[in-house]
Amino acid sequence: MKPAGRGCGAPARRCDLDHTKDWQYHGLSDHDNLAHLCPKHHDQKHHTRWKVEHLGDGDLSWTSPTGHRYLTEPAIRLDAAL
Ligand SMILES: [Zn+2]
Repeated sequence: MKPAGRGCGAPARRCDLDHTKDWQYHGLSDHDNLAHLCPKHHDQKHHTRWKVEHLGDGDLSWTSPTGHRYLTEPAIRLDAAL
């Protein structure tokens, strides 16, 4: 498993399991709303103007404050039915 931050090489064991749509805003703890983010990328998501959208199947869209969009995908895709 690798983290979901753009260009991130942090091992997943050092990452937080982040709700892409915040739990406090009724984001669910399910397969299509959770991603491993290292502390740096977790902080970037919550405390900067970057926006993150879960596209499903582990793919994330990161939109920079200038509007550039970057896609990340998981190293391993898990079967949502498991
Ligand atoms: Zn990271």
